[in-house]
This record gives sequence, structure tokens and C-alpha cells, in this order.
Amino acid sequence: MRTLALLWITLGLAACAATPTGPVTVQVLAINDFHGHLQPPPGGFRQPDPAQPGKSLSTPAGGIAHLATAVREAMAASPHSLFVAAGDLIGASPLISALAQDRPTVDLLSRIGLVASAVGNHEFDRGAAALLALQREAGFQWLAASTVDTRTGRTILPAYIVRRFDGIDVAFIGLTLAATPSIVAADGVAGLEFRDEAQTVNALVPELRAQGIEAIVLLIHEGGFPAQGPNDCPALSGPITQIVPKLDRAVDVVISGHTHRAYNCRIDDRLVTSADRYGTVLSKIRLTLDPRTRDITDAQADNVIVATERFAPAPRIAAAVAAYAEQVRPLAERPVGRLAAPLANETGSNGEMPAGRLIADAQLAATAAPAAGGAQIALMNPGGVRAALRPRADGMLTFGDLFAAQPFYNNLVTLTLSGAELQAVLERQWAGQPFPRVLQVSHGFSYRWDAAQPPGRRVVPDSLQLHGRTLRADEPLRITVNSFLAGGGDLFDAFKAGRDRRTGVMDIDALEAYVRNGAAPDDVPRLQRLN
Ligand SMILES: [Zn+2]
Repeated sequence: MRTLALLWITLGLAACAATPTGPVTVQVLAINDFHGHLQPPPGGFRQPDPAQPGKSLSTPAGGIAHLATAVREAMAASPHSLFVAAGDLIGASPLISALAQDRPTVDLLSRIGLVASAVGNHEFDRGAAALLALQREAGFQWLAASTVDTRTGRTILPAYIVRRFDGIDVAFIGLTLAATPSIVAADGVAGLEFRDEAQTVNALVPELRAQGIEAIVLLIHEGGFPAQGPNDCPALSGPITQIVPKLDRAVDVVISGHTHRAYNCRIDDRLVTSADRYGTVLSKIRLTLDPRTRDITDAQADNVIVATERFAPAPRIAAAVAAYAEQVRPLAERPVGRLAAPLANETGSNGEMPAGRLIADAQLAATAAPAAGGAQIALMNPGGVRAALRPRADGMLTFGDLFAAQPFYNNLVTLTLSGAELQAVLERQWAGQPFPRVLQVSHGFSYRWDAAQPPGRRVVPDSLQLHGRTLRADEPLRITVNSFLAGGGDLFDAFKAGRDRRTGVMDIDALEAYVRNGAAPDDVPRLQRLN
């Protein structure tokens, strides 16, 4: 009897809830590219300084205990809320998360109420099996609508989830960029196919509509590059501007990521948001649902900076972070060596970054001896320089500092290319890339490039030099790269043709040895940009 009475009450509530009288408001909270940043990232949230063009403003922000408070406060203010993400929650993480294969991040994102996330490219850093193992521990659902296991023909994770608010279903589709295989180490994506973004979404629309679903939100790990602050959108560029217009009109809102930027845009009359990176921004999106059409009639967003001053750390989450930090403390705080001044990982106009120069030098030093590979040149992908190298007040760099800059555990590979092949590699920095990817080069190697020339013809002929000597086209050169580049990563396919390959030490070990031996960074530009 009692069960029956409860059932009647439940049905009664459901029936009541299914016929709301007015519009239903749903709040969607979103982050992207968290990358295991359980603690506030150094540098905080950066945005262009409106007062000083070319300069940026920095706000201390992020850290999962602060994010927890921002999420909880937002949820308390809205009866229907859902916390979602657009991928790269894990991978390229600081030691606090990376040392335990990002389990601490999965644990704490689950505890602060994350419900679903698109997979990003970095979810595949350790391969699909490792991702599926983490999924089993997670309190949230990763979505991978476009990632298909080539053996079964099925997606490796669900394509979408559906949540009901006052009787109205809202679908959240999640996927990563189609170019994921070109930016992940080859063994991480073996046996997987990454399908076209818009085609994948559009193919799901009839399936969702057949279930009576009209409200559709896309979580996509692909993004754009804004020109202004986090709540603006002039001059957004990048892949997302191409993808959104191709989406079926049934898709109402797009929550994006991957470019590590914050924006609040309308593309093709649809809301398109992104929340920077590392939990420094929380997108608060307000959906208005029409109970009659069951569709989204309005969507407005506010990108809130998760300023550490404004959002006090949630005590239990802060305690958990402290406990995880304690586990890695002996390793993270181990002093390695001194550095006179910080080395930035921001790219200058010639394409070089100070931290990138040091890392390339370290990789050359680790592989120059004949027995270690006989390298003459080292080249480092700029996207792999994940943080600036910032010494402590006493000038000391710790292992944790080095790991923040080089978190991938890639082996070094020394291989042979001809001078002509090397020049072709350098042209790939601009041709075929979604944006310029200028490789960081080691001491002694130099060349000139001309920004006025079209991509594919930018390297100035006969400008490649090694210690001042011009390199010949047919000259064999021993070149060190990390295993990601050696496998053709970042569309540098030509490295796959490298001969006499020798696998060397880990990238982080090369950097540690170099810093321990008294790394001497030099400020002399190695690349000269014309125009
Ligand atoms: Zn990404």
C-alpha cells in the first residue's frame, strides 16, 4: 500500500511537472581545458588590457576549491542547474594530478558536481583503455559522439546524455575535434577514427527528435580565438567559426574549448561560449525553454572569472587538494637547479619563446654525444611547452616547476633528415596548420623566415645555418625531437621519414639534467623574421 501511495505521489508530481505553465529556465555551468589544475595556475586568468594595447591583465583565479564555490553559489541561485565541460579535463596536468594518472582530477570534478564532458584530444594522451578505466571511476560521463572504435564501428563512449527539467528534455552531445589524431601521440589514438564534427552532430539530430527532444546543446572540444575580453566577441576566428554554420538548426547552443580562450559569442544566430582554461573561468549559461515547443527560445551567457579573492575555497575540497598535494610534495619540491630569471612560454614575433629555447637546448645536450644519438639540432613543438619556467624567490627551480613545463613523458628521438627535408619540415610550420606552430630550435641552429611570403615559401632559401655555416640541401643532419613529433605530431609528417632513429631519454629527464648542470639560457634570437 505504502509503495502504491508513493507511486501515485510520484506520478502525480511527474504529471504536474510535465505541464509547466510558463517558460522554464535552466542554468548550464561550463568549463573546458581544466588539464588537472587542482591548484590555482600560476599567471591566473589573463585578458587583454583595454588601457594598454598589447599588454595583458592578470587576475589570480582557478583552483578546484574556488571553482567548487563558484559552482555551488550559481547552483543555489537556480533550481534547474547542470555542470558540464568541453574536454581536456585531464592530460598535460601538473604533478599533483599527473602523478596519479589524473585520478585526483576525476575524483574532485565528480565531487563538485560535474555531470558530463566532451572528450578532448588530451583525454587520449594515455590511450583509450586508460580513458575508459578513468570513466569507470568518474561520477560524470565523458561523451565521444565522433570517436569510433574501428573494430566495432561504435563510439567508444556515449554520444550524448539527456536531462529532464520540468518535463522538458535537454540533450547534451559531446565530441572532440576531427583533427585529434594529428595532435595526439600515435599510440594514444590507435584503432580509433575521429569523424567530422558537424556531420556527426547532424546525424544525431533525427535520433534525438524521434525521442521528442528539441533542446540540443553541443559540447565540442574545438574553439576559436577572440580578440577581446571574456564576455566579448569581436573578430572571433578559428575552426569553430567554420563548424557552427554547418550544424543543423536544431542545435541551439555550442559550448566550446581547446583554444584555451574565453569568449561569449553569437555565430550564425547561436550562442557559442568558451571558458578559458584551468578552471579560471566559469561560463554561466541561462537557457529559456518553451514548455509548448520543448525548445530553447533564448540563451544568454556570462563568463565569470573564478577569482580566488571573490570565491573562498570550499573547505572539504581544499582539504582534499591539500592531501593530494602532500602525496607529491617530496617530488614536486625537490630542488633541481638555479635560474636567474623567469623564462616565458609566450611566443615572440619571430616564433621563439624563452622557455622553448631552453628546452630545445636541454634536448640537444641530452642527445649530442655520439653514443646518445649524435644530435646536431633539437626541435621542440611549441604546444608542448606548457608553462613558463619560474624560479622561486631563492632562484631555485623545483622538479614540480620543470614538470609543469614538460608534463608529457615523451621520449626523445634522434633521427636523420637531409638539409632539404629539414627545410620542408620548417615550411610546415605555416602551411596546413590551423595556426602557426613555429618549432623551438636549439643553440647553434638558425634561419630566416619571411612573413610576407605565402605559407609554403616562407623559409628564406639558403638561410639555414649551423654554427654560422650554411647547410647544404643534401647534407645529412642528426635531429632530436620528442616522440610526439617523431610520430608526425602537429601535422609534421616529414619526421616520420627520419632515418637511423635512436630513442633517447625522457624529455623531462633531459630538462632536469640540463637545469641541474647549470642551464645557461641565452636571449639571442635564433630565428630572424623578415617583415
Ligand atoms: Zn585540446
